[in-house]
Amino acid sequence: MRTGAIALVFGTRPELVKLAPLAWELGASAGWIHTGQHPWADLAEIAGDLRIGPPDRDATVGSAPPGLLGASVAAVADALTELAPDVVVVQGDTNSTLAGALATAKVGLPLVHLEAGLRAFDRRLPEEHNRIVVDHLSDVLCAPTPLAATQLADEGIAATRIVVTGNTAVDAVHRVLPDRDERLAIRAAFDLRADEYAVATLHRPENVDDGQTLATIVEELRDLPLPVLMPVHPRTSDRARRAGIELGGGAIVVTAPLGYRAFIALAADSAFLVTDSGGVQEEASVIGRPAVVVRRSTERPEVLGTVTTRVDPGPAIGAAARAILADLPELHQRLADLASPYGGGDARYLTVAAIEQLIAPR
Ligand code: UDP
Repeated sequence: MRTGAIALVFGTRPELVKLAPLAWELGASAGWIHTGQHPWADLAEIAGDLRIGPPDRDATVGSAPPGLLGASVAAVADALTELAPDVVVVQGDTNSTLAGALATAKVGLPLVHLEAGLRAFDRRLPEEHNRIVVDHLSDVLCAPTPLAATQLADEGIAATRIVVTGNTAVDAVHRVLPDRDERLAIRAAFDLRADEYAVATLHRPENVDDGQTLATIVEELRDLPLPVLMPVHPRTSDRARRAGIELGGGAIVVTAPLGYRAFIALAADSAFLVTDSGGVQEEASVIGRPAVVVRRSTERPEVLGTVTTRVDPGPAIGAAARAILADLPELHQRLADLASPYGGGDARYLTVAAIEQLIAPR
């Protein structure tokens, strides 16, 4: 395939993590377009961990609140016109994903959607709107699980457009997870001992935009009976500052967002995770660590009740964490024996095969 034949459009860290495995397979035929939803400076370390260089085209128009969506679509469309790929790949459900999909439709290129078919059945979530629109615009929909494929079929999307690939998040974890010695060194930098700390990541609007809700979550984490390492997402530090909330204190050990390799290393040796992240729920199922998911709804029911426990923000967080701790060695053993429903780490091969079939001369 020629250089830049397959455009990979991304704007945030989960898109970068989950598109990277495609680039490993595609080599020079992958051309990266960055929408700038998260500045490249914030993504460069994660890109380095995944052996991805700077993007081929920068379509940055600032971060992308609704008013900037139009500008972002125009910028990505310009980048696509310059790069002239045969096909465009977008991933997930961010504003960047939506901008990439709309730009692709505008320029008239075939579109592939990674992580298609996720549904929380919760119309309060901006991500739900994005993923529905992107799925229906896409020519090839890579569903991570059979459930996601069924949900697409239920919306009337033709079976010929849907392929179950697994999730490339699994490929990424397998590639970066450091060995025992390196994990020990990474933990030592935070003075943490294996299985004796938790890792918490929170950034969703439903948890951090309302000061009272954020304060409640922070109180729950402070009161946990083990250190809670909290790499703070820029959105969360911004909302906390505006609401006058101090994020540290008690059990909480605050740190800047971590590189991908360090994050996976620390998550893999934790007692458990507390998160509202989608990607972290998938990763938890690969590294075999339980996760308390602080969300009103979830689009990842495949791991609910085995790997994850969903709770509303409030006292349920502490209760779920204590229940996990009461059963810790047995729970870790059960999860070690459980295969991830998101696949065995070969999603990139199935995805690349689907892309090649889409652009093969007929
Ligand atoms: N992540 C990371 N460093 C951190 C926290 C998370 O590299 O300090 C990674 C994590 O492993 C996962 C991704 O970022 O792959 C999740 O991103 P985020 O929570 O922003 O997005 P979501 O998955 O909720 O869409």
